[in-house]
This record gives sequence, structure tokens and C-alpha cells, in this order.
Amino acid sequence: MTANKLADSQLVTLPMLIDGKAVPAADSGRTFDSVDPASQMPWARVPDGDVADVDAAVAAARAALTGPWSQTTGFGRARVLRRIAELVMRDIDHLAGLEARDSGRLLRDAEAQITFVADWFQYFAGLAETVTGQTIPTDHLDMLVYTEAVPVGVVGAIVPWNAPLLLLAWKVAPALAAGCTIVVKPSDYTPATALALGPILAEAGVPDGAYNVVTGFGPAVGQAITAHPGVNKVAFTGSTATGIAVGKSAVTNLTRVTLELGGKSAQLVFEDADPEAALNGVINGIFIGTGQTCIAGSRLLVHESLHDELVAGLIARAKAIRIGSPTDTNTQMGPLVNGIQHAAVLEHIAVARRQGATLACGGGIPEGLTGWYVEPTIFTDVHPEMDIAQKEVFGPVLAVMKFRTEEEAIELANNTKFGLAAGIWSQNVHRAHRVARALRAGTVWVNTYRAYSPAAPFGGFGHSGIGRENGLEVMRAYSETKTVWVETAGATRDPFSIR
Ligand code: NDP
Repeated sequence: MTANKLADSQLVTLPMLIDGKAVPAADSGRTFDSVDPASQMPWARVPDGDVADVDAAVAAARAALTGPWSQTTGFGRARVLRRIAELVMRDIDHLAGLEARDSGRLLRDAEAQITFVADWFQYFAGLAETVTGQTIPTDHLDMLVYTEAVPVGVVGAIVPWNAPLLLLAWKVAPALAAGCTIVVKPSDYTPATALALGPILAEAGVPDGAYNVVTGFGPAVGQAITAHPGVNKVAFTGSTATGIAVGKSAVTNLTRVTLELGGKSAQLVFEDADPEAALNGVINGIFIGTGQTCIAGSRLLVHESLHDELVAGLIARAKAIRIGSPTDTNTQMGPLVNGIQHAAVLEHIAVARRQGATLACGGGIPEGLTGWYVEPTIFTDVHPEMDIAQKEVFGPVLAVMKFRTEEEAIELANNTKFGLAAGIWSQNVHRAHRVARALRAGTVWVNTYRAYSPAAPFGGFGHSGIGRENGLEVMRAYSETKTVWVETAGATRDPFSIR
């Protein structure tokens, strides 16, 4: 951790939230500092929680689950969720400022993401009112059979640092809509906005204990949540390696689990693409958020006839990207989130060079900036088996490969253990649908990239995860289906008859 250049008294104190109370770490009273990636200086002091805090948070969440929150109807929960959306918009400046400071995300990106957070609560308010069970036709004349969606219970939500509040809203909004209660573990790099959401939820009418935040580190707090017998479902977003550990831990209690993990998403640019639109889409895909997005379009597969022209355009655009402070409205690319990530991205670049990829632009640290900055970087002559074509970098690094035929493009795109997203650039409607069908990816965009909505399911194939977030589909992940059989004839059956 960087040396503390601020006096301790200047650091903002951010307590945990358990059962509606702002608390320090119960056992140790220990703290850690959250660091501003643009200045590399600590700015907030946060409790370093452990198993005792998770126990307390789960107990509070269980009490709220069977207590006040269980007494709300779907209509009542919808009113609360709509109020949350209003309050999030009221506090947008405060929330966006916290997010930018904690994660290094551009302030204007953070503002846009906070508006999405409000959208998510609005959308799931609608589903709280409208999701229904079914009546089930059976072969029994004298039975009424119906299903009910029952809240799955206490949800452990574990989120990463790259879009902290939005990815948390993807879990909290459907969980509350379904009638669940929640224990959150934010990334230790970005705890601020998960904590700031607490008072907003309370003001909107979420009862004490229904939303708890335990700060601390993954191997202590995260692991304690995934292994806790009082947690009914774990909703995790993070790296594939951690996701596998989370899944193994959760299954010991048969805890339900959804995993939103990493990616190595391909953008396929065909010879019939609109070149300007494709160029723009590729830049958006890889450099937004300094490449620290799970859906980063980090592999460009381009038809050989367009390769040189597209790469030249990309290099020109990459070199013109304005790198700088997240709070400067002119900035287009901010720093990486921390020193570990900075070193990891530079190592990926070094490996790509050693393995023979051609560094077409970038590759270094921009001059004149303190903070964890890396230049927008493009590699050409990438071979599909190189690390840069297979491993998630989570930084502003694009790997370019050529193809000759549609079949080759599909094969290259699917040549990864991941399967989160893909972009197709083609003006041929037949090809666009044909290729979309052939790609193994949870989301496929055609002539666009990075569009998303609370209504559209999101998640990955293969090592990109298990399950889907968003849309009607995610409500099932926060519910158990209960099937009820009602005998309507009032008759007494032969106890030894099975029909
Ligand atoms: P990590 O997997 O390192 O961490 C994610 C969260 O898990 C953090 O809160 C972390 O805590 C916690 N954690 C760490 N170890 C454990 C453990 N043993 N048990 C339980 N929880 C644990 O991911 P990053 O934070 O580095 O985020 C980047 C990754 O997230 C990338 O791979 C990216 O692709 C993926 N991602 C996926 C998205 C998707 O929707 N598919 C969206 C956004 C990101 P701590 O911070 O304290 O270590």
C-alpha cells in the first residue's frame, strides 16, 4: 500500500453497515485504507471485517427476512424500489464523486452509471409487482396445481471494483424485488458506494437488517459469506479464478450460486462492415473504462481486406485518446484501479512482445502523470494461441487477428474458454444473424457494442460464468419455485393407489 500522505484526521471514516447500524469491525477493530487511484493516496479508512461481522450481518438479514420484509407485498416492495430510484438520482453527484474517487472511473462515466442504477431499481420495481406463479394443467381432474415464487432467502452479494455500484444494483434490485435480504461484500478497493447506498435504502423504507455491508478482504469476509449456512444464495461478480473458489465453497451447503466472471470477447469485422462504425465500436469496446470491463472487446478479428486500413485508423484514434484525471471532463481514459492491476497489465504487454506479437502502438506508461496509467495499446500479428489472445488482461490492450472466411472468423471467435460477449460488424443481414447464432457468447451485439438494459439477460458461456443477471430471467435466481397441490373433490383415496 502507498505511504499515507494525508494526516489520519483528514481521511474519511466509512463504518460497516450491520442491522441498520454503522459499526467498526467487531473483533479486531482493525481498519484498512481505500486509495484514490489518480493520486495513489489513501482517502478513506474502512473496517477490516472478519467472520464475526459476517455472522452478525447474516443474523440481521435472517431476522429481517422472516420479520418486517416478509410482511411486504410485491406492490409494497415496488413502492420502496421506486423511491430508491428517486433517491439515487437525488444523490447522483455524491455517489458519482465517491465512485470516481474510489475506483478511478471517469466522473462522467460514474454519473452515467448512477443513472443506470436508478433504472435498475425502476425496472425491478415493475417486476416486484408483476412476477407471478402459474396454474399448472395436470392429468388430475380433482386437483388444483399452482406454483408460487418464494424468496430464496438471504443473498450474499460479492462484487468487484470495476463498476462497483452498478454491479451491486444488478443484485440488490432483483433480490429486494423478490423479497430477499442481503449481505454485501464490496471489493476492498472500492467499498464507498456500497456503504453510501445503505442510508438511501433505509430512507426509502428498506428495514434494518435487510441490507448489510461487511467490508474487508476476500479470503476473510468473502469466503465467510460463501461458506455460511445462513446464506441461501451467493451472487458473485469477479474473476474466473475467484468464481471457481466461490462456487466450490457455496456448494458445501448447497447454497445457490450465480457467477458473472471474466471474458476475452471478440469483435468480428467483416469485409461488408461500415468501416467508420466498426472503428468506433472497436475503440468503445476496448478502451472505455481503461479496458477494465468484463465485456471489453479485447480481441479484434478483422477480414484481411480491411485489416491495414482499420488498424491504421485504430492506431490514430488510440494515440489521440486524452488520458488524465478522472474528474477532468476532457479525460477519455483514466488510471487503472491499483498498483497490482497496473503491474499485471504491463506484464501482459511484456509477455505479448516476448511471444512475438507486434506492438503497433502504446505499451508503456504515459509521461507526466502520477497514478496507475497505461497507454492505449494495440498488438497486431497475434497468433490465436498466444497469451494475449487467450488471457483476460483487464486493461486497455487490444489483440488483432486477421481472417479470410466467415468460418475462420467464427472459429477464431469461439477459440477461447470464455464466452461473455461478442460484436459483429457487417451490413449483410443474413450473415449477421448467421454468425450471431454460431458464436458461443452470452451477449452478441450486431453493429453496436456495450448496449445493455435491466430488461436484457446478461451472463456468460463457459468460463464466463453460471446463470444470468437482469431481465425476467434473474427473478428465478432470487426465488424458489413452490408447487402446491390442492385436492378439490373432498374424497378419500385408496392409500395404496399411486394414480
Ligand atoms: P476478484 O475475483 O479478485 O474479486 C471479486 C470480489 O470477490 C471482490 O469483492 C473480492 O474481494 C472477492 N473475493 C476475493 N477472494 C474471495 C474468496 N476467496 N471468496 C469470496 N470472495 C472473494 O475480481 P476483481 O475484483 O479483480 O474484478 C475483476 C474481475 O471481475 C475480472 O475478471 C472481470 O472480468 C470480472 N467481472 C465480471 C463481470 C461480469 O459481469 N461477467 C463484470 C465485471 C467484472 P477483495 O476485493 O477483497 O479481494
